[in-house]
This record gives sequence, structure tokens and C-alpha cells, in this order.
Amino acid sequence: MECDKCGEDAVMHAAYSGLHMCEAHFRRSVDSRVRKRIREDSLLSDDATPEDPETWLIGLSGGKDSVVLTHILHDTFAADPRVELVALTIHEGIEGYRDASLDACLELTEDLDIEHEVVSYADEYGLEMDDVADDDPLNMAPCAYCGVFRRDALSQYAETYGADKLLTGHNLDDEAQTAMMNWLSGDVAQMAQHFDASLGSFDDREVDDDPFVPRAKPLRDIPEKEVALYAHLTDLPSHMAECPHASEAYRGEIQQYLYDLEADHPGTRHSIMSGYEELARLAAEAYRGGDDEPRGECDRCGAPTNNAVCRKCELVEAVGGDAASGD
Ligand code: SF4
Repeated sequence: MECDKCGEDAVMHAAYSGLHMCEAHFRRSVDSRVRKRIREDSLLSDDATPEDPETWLIGLSGGKDSVVLTHILHDTFAADPRVELVALTIHEGIEGYRDASLDACLELTEDLDIEHEVVSYADEYGLEMDDVADDDPLNMAPCAYCGVFRRDALSQYAETYGADKLLTGHNLDDEAQTAMMNWLSGDVAQMAQHFDASLGSFDDREVDDDPFVPRAKPLRDIPEKEVALYAHLTDLPSHMAECPHASEAYRGEIQQYLYDLEADHPGTRHSIMSGYEELARLAAEAYRGGDDEPRGECDRCGAPTNNAVCRKCELVEAVGGDAASGD
């Protein structure tokens, strides 16, 4: 098969667009879609200047998504004095898994000369995910604990570091799965929260009153398989192994459902996201200015929460950790 743009050998066929692309045109296409997303989301504030640059903290796990995100951001902004990139890896305490991906993070950040920080659950919460998965005192899936700890660790570090934005490597498949899960649960408030937290453009989101560092997902237009192909063709150091505690059964069902739909009806993920984003935006606008209780602070750690104790502190206490470890 030949590239539709230059006639060279094609390395991929995107069924949703009908295009066949060679390596060079494929990589250029991914780069340009990510840069378009960054522009359309107004990720770089007009206030950023060489004298007063924005700091973007990248959640770098060492998996293909965050590695590709870091590579493209570096390619795009390394020579732009209005942006400073810093990478942060969260070490959950999963033997044989995170240590290997940490090596990929170190190799990449050294290659790109990007500052790299590591935060561990052991230091922050006095626990390791291997022990949490073994004990599981609340009889939940390991990911249900781990997701809460990771979100908290990223947010707290971004706040402490003084980052202006927190960027993660969620791809089109990740976002379409989340959209479907929110849709199927009928949770309109969650859709609104998803929009303001990380989905919409900074022109449309209400971030000024948000106590968390604003998030963004510049890869959210790129299908997972294209991210993997880009990492492979660019020879980026990424760690492909699956976490031994991976347990999000419901997300797995939705993922398979979307694979099947996409195979039969190419473009399904893109259309899900364009409709969902618009509905989530309308929901976010409707929920703003409502009579919800104002956010308070967690009695234990001071993090923003609507309850006396935040979910992270509840879970840390349940598994016998120490939420004050990182203080
Ligand atoms: Fe944590 Fe689950 Fe991810 Fe493993 S798969 S790192 S347990 S969230």
C-alpha cells in the first residue's frame, strides 16, 4: 500500500479518515494534530512571556502515551522561552513494573534535557501498592485506590512546585471510554466536572475558581494505536508491560465494546467525543453558579474537598498508611 500524500510505502491506514500514510507523513500528522489541539485549547496563556514563562508539569509514567506527549511537547516548545517543561513520575510501589518504566522516564528526560522529579506513595502516604493490592481492606479493585492516590500526588506536587498547568497523556481511546462510562452511569454532574477539569478549551472552562492546578490532555485526539506506532517509529524509550494489578473490569468492557464499534463503524470514537464534549460544556455551564455547598478543606491534609475528610485521606487511613508522610 502506498502513502496517499507522496507514494512512499505506507506504514498505516486510518480507517476513520481513509488515509494511508508513510512514516514521515504519519509522524507529521500526529505532531500537527497535537499542536492543533494545544492551539484550540488555548493551552499557552497570552500572559506567558519570556520574562514570566508558564511552567507545564507533565505526568510521565514511562508508558507510550506520556512518553509521546513529552517528546512532542519538547519538539514544540524547547525553543520557546514562554514555556518551561518539567516531568513528574509517580512511583506507586509495584515491584518489577514501575522500576522498569522509571528507567524509560530517566532515559527520555536525560535525552531531552528536561527536569525530572519522582514522587512515591511510600514517601507521600507511607504505603506501597503491592501491599494495598494484597490486603485490600475495603474489598475494592487496586486501581480504585491507586487512581485516587495518583490524582492527589500529581495535584499536590503541581501545587507545591508552582506549576501553571498539569498535562497528562490521555489518548482518544481513554477519553472515549471515560465519556461512555459517564454517559452510561447517567452522571451529568460528572460530565460537567470532566469538562471543567480537563476536557474543554481554556477559553470555555471555569478554571479561576478551581483550587486545583488546571489540567490538559493534548493527545486526546490521537487514537491509542497511533500513539503506540508513533512511539515505535520514533524509537522512544517506553515501557509497554501491563501493571500486574490492572483491574478496571468495567473500563475493559467499555474498551472492548468501543474496539468492536470502531471496527464496524470507523470514526465512532471521534463522533462520541465531539458530541460528548459539547454536552459536557453545556452541563458545565448549567452547573456553574448553582447552589452547591462551596468547597472546603480536608481536616487532615488541607486538600480541597466537599467533605470533612477527603477521599485520599479516607483510603490512606483504611490501608494503614500515613497521609502526613509527605509533609
Ligand atoms: Fe495503579 Fe491500576 Fe494503574 Fe496499576 S493499573 S498503576 S494499580 S491505576
